[in-house]
Amino acid sequence: RNEEYLEQQEKRESSARSYPRRLPLAIEKAEGIYVWDADGRRYYDCLAGAGTLALGHNHPVVIEAMEKVIADQRPLHTLDLTTPVKEEFVTELFDSLPASFAQRAKVQFCGPTGGDAIEAAIKLAKTATGRQGILTFQGGYHGATHATMAISGNLGPKEHVRGLIPDVHFLPYPYQYRCPFGFGGEQTHLISAHYIEQLLDDPESGILPPAAMILEVVQGEGGSIPAPIEWLQEMRRITKERNIPLIIDEVQTGVGRTGKMFAFEHAGIVPDIVVISKAIGGSLPLALVVYDEALDQWQPGAHIGTFRGNQLAMAAGTATLRYIKKHQVSDHAAAMGEKLMLTLKEWQHFIKEIGDVRGRGLMIGVEMVDPTGARSKSGSYPAHPLLAKSIQRECFNRGLMIEVGGRHGSVMRFLPPLIVTEQQLHDIMVIFKESLLAAVE
Ligand code: PMP
Repeated sequence: RNEEYLEQQEKRESSARSYPRRLPLAIEKAEGIYVWDADGRRYYDCLAGAGTLALGHNHPVVIEAMEKVIADQRPLHTLDLTTPVKEEFVTELFDSLPASFAQRAKVQFCGPTGGDAIEAAIKLAKTATGRQGILTFQGGYHGATHATMAISGNLGPKEHVRGLIPDVHFLPYPYQYRCPFGFGGEQTHLISAHYIEQLLDDPESGILPPAAMILEVVQGEGGSIPAPIEWLQEMRRITKERNIPLIIDEVQTGVGRTGKMFAFEHAGIVPDIVVISKAIGGSLPLALVVYDEALDQWQPGAHIGTFRGNQLAMAAGTATLRYIKKHQVSDHAAAMGEKLMLTLKEWQHFIKEIGDVRGRGLMIGVEMVDPTGARSKSGSYPAHPLLAKSIQRECFNRGLMIEVGGRHGSVMRFLPPLIVTEQQLHDIMVIFKESLLAAVE
């Protein structure tokens, strides 16, 4: 039956579809960290909707919350009108933000994707500052609309879509394993911060005062690359001193994924704008920006969209936030992430193809390299995308779905549901190791 579904969809769906090419299964049933295909085969889901499924598939509290909306005959569609379901969600959301931010925060609901919320964040910053340039980072990913594509590093999709917004400046992200300066290693983040500061102060840099800086605390699609805490604090200082709004893209890192409710909390910084999506909707589409009230200078209707009021998603989001807080799911994610990293780092000693192991919480990247290639000045080996692809295939054949990403397509990305147990993690690692060794042979 699997084959039949795949064949039908291959025939009718567009060439732009991507995941089904590498993960050829028709998912018929899902629960927790598992999915079952149409032939009844079970898979561990370490892709989890690209980090969306914080509580895994169909968590009872999420299902119950949605059932309640229906049983209570709440409206399902409301544009952005006021409802009790929304009020409850906003209260829970504000309660989940650090108090220093929440007390000055405003929220704007956006079209239901992360990309639309990033668009809103850019529009808000441009409106509030009256400026237009955006500072962004090499290897960053912010979406697939025109503006979000323009501020994302990946050139592949851009090549065929000309005429993106022009005033974008790419800055070096502190990617220690592949230092953008060639030789930095552990010093990468300090060099990056120094470089960025001098660039902004150099009257000959060609950069007009920008409307915003946008960054991911851990680059997701870019290869699960965590920014050092000190660097994040430097970015906050540098932007604050120059009155540049700092937008933190928490679309993938938010809602417990990195071991804190929001990843910026690791650095103890207060952003100007935070973009939240994916896990906030408890697996349904929901996206929003939360920002400092000082920026609240846009006009009614400045960011509209028909689907900003998904009541089921809000109820699912409320249930998700409550569950995470009540059961300290972020702490659990941090502990599980540490275990995972420790194991992977041990393997690194005897599997030469593991170039780097990194991450924060349950957002972990394993960068596959070619150890027979020439080392760079900062000690990294060439990326090995073919090996990464073949590990993904071996994993899939053994019942594990895992994402491959990174700038060179050479990073195995662990994004399991945050509720993964120690035993499940152990089982996942057994499959991953077997697959890795099979692919390396
Ligand atoms: N920002 C980040 C950091 C993301 O990871 C993503 C999605 N992978 C987006 C923005 C875009 O979100 P969406 O796909 O919902 O538009």
